[in-house]
Amino acid sequence: MSKIIVLIGAPGAGKGTQARFLEERLGIPQISTGDMFREMKNADTPIAREVQTIMASGKLISDEITFQIVKDRTSRADCKGTYILDGFPRTAIQAGMLEALADEQNKEISAILIDVPLDHLEKRMTGRRSCPICGEIYNIYYKPPKNDNVCDFHTEAKLNHRADDTEEKVKIRLTTYEENTKPLLDYYEKSGRLKKVNGTDEMEAIYRELKKLV
Ligand code: AMP
Repeated sequence: MSKIIVLIGAPGAGKGTQARFLEERLGIPQISTGDMFREMKNADTPIAREVQTIMASGKLISDEITFQIVKDRTSRADCKGTYILDGFPRTAIQAGMLEALADEQNKEISAILIDVPLDHLEKRMTGRRSCPICGEIYNIYYKPPKNDNVCDFHTEAKLNHRADDTEEKVKIRLTTYEENTKPLLDYYEKSGRLKKVNGTDEMEAIYRELKKLV
């Protein structure tokens, strides 16, 4: 049976980096709600404007809007088999919505926690930068680019610093994670569907562990 692999972890735990590895190296499509919302940045519709305001505040978009984009995206042909969700579900209501979607799509859910202690996370987020062209993720503390503020592969473009990766927004996002998303660990654990990897290891080591679990 095909799976829906749910990558869970605090913001900054490395879900995006690992989801990209799994997609590039194993060909499993990764669906990132954060990326999809960021892509709405330039759209000038009422929903896009609402999404931009909420994202900039570090809070969560409504469950209904979020679920709708996940449902639409995963109904495309590339999600016929196993796919990865990065950043969804993030609330108990979303987890319930995902159960229904999994039934509908005839897939089983497998959750994997990328476990990083809270005190590591702040620097990971405030130091995060990404290439606007290829999406390569850097960190000025842990994985700096060869030259200041430009991608190793695309020197023509300055790296992006997400508006919600500032110290103030990071604090809000971590609190949101603690309150809304952390309870999901219990939910998946109790139903025997939670696996864990140590997210403080080096990136390639985390990837090797993850690969065994997907
Ligand atoms: P991320 O890139 O996963 O950290 O997501 C960035 C932002 O997008 C979050 O802080 C939320 O504002 C929004 N977002 C992403 N995924 C969700 C979700 N599942 N539910 C609600 N809001 C989300």
